[in-house]
Amino acid sequence: MSKAEPLYRLQLLDIDLDKARRQLNEIEDALNSNPAVNHARTELAAAQLAQHKQSIEVKSLELEARSMDDRIKADEDRLYKGNIRTPKELVDLQHEIEILKRNRGAHEDNLLNMMLALDEAAEVVQRCQAAVDEATRHWQEDSVLLRETRSQLRDRISANEERREAICIAIPRADLATYTGLRARKAGGVAVSSMKNDACSQCGESPSSVLLQQARTGGNLALCNGCGRILFPG
Ligand SMILES: [Zn+2]
Repeated sequence: MSKAEPLYRLQLLDIDLDKARRQLNEIEDALNSNPAVNHARTELAAAQLAQHKQSIEVKSLELEARSMDDRIKADEDRLYKGNIRTPKELVDLQHEIEILKRNRGAHEDNLLNMMLALDEAAEVVQRCQAAVDEATRHWQEDSVLLRETRSQLRDRISANEERREAICIAIPRADLATYTGLRARKAGGVAVSSMKNDACSQCGESPSSVLLQQARTGGNLALCNGCGRILFPG
């Protein structure tokens, strides 16, 4: 039997373990946080902030309106109580009241526009809240499936880890060290290259007949002259 055979079986397990662990990480990420929900929450926070600013604006305009009304009332009280002494004072006061009322009218228009804008801001908040609810519902639905897949992956990983240990027991320590070093260095974690038509499947190099014999039945591992991987005749 080729010395590379248990290493080849080990590599199949390790590649599958890598894949399963990667999938498991992706699933954990997807269960911990969801881009669609995060996006909807960000939009909601922005809409709430805009609504808050708008509401402060409206309150301030309402206060200003009340203070303008008070001033108009005070001036009108002075006008009707007959305390005015000269015609000039009367004309000045009437003029002042006229200006105050004109300003108050313009202020009312502004206030109404701001109140309309506040209503619109509240509607945007409602729409954003609905979007958050919907995205969260989808995420929860997806999560059921994700949790099932996670559980299957965990089972697959622990079964593979047990099989891995059993295989490793039978492999000489030096061979295992060669394999581990190559797997860390080589692309795709491929340390053992299965041969096709007596050539390395990874780099295409054809080994000498001596090396080929060593790969098949030798006491040492045969390493490809092209890429340095462990040759497995298959
Ligand atoms: Zn090679």
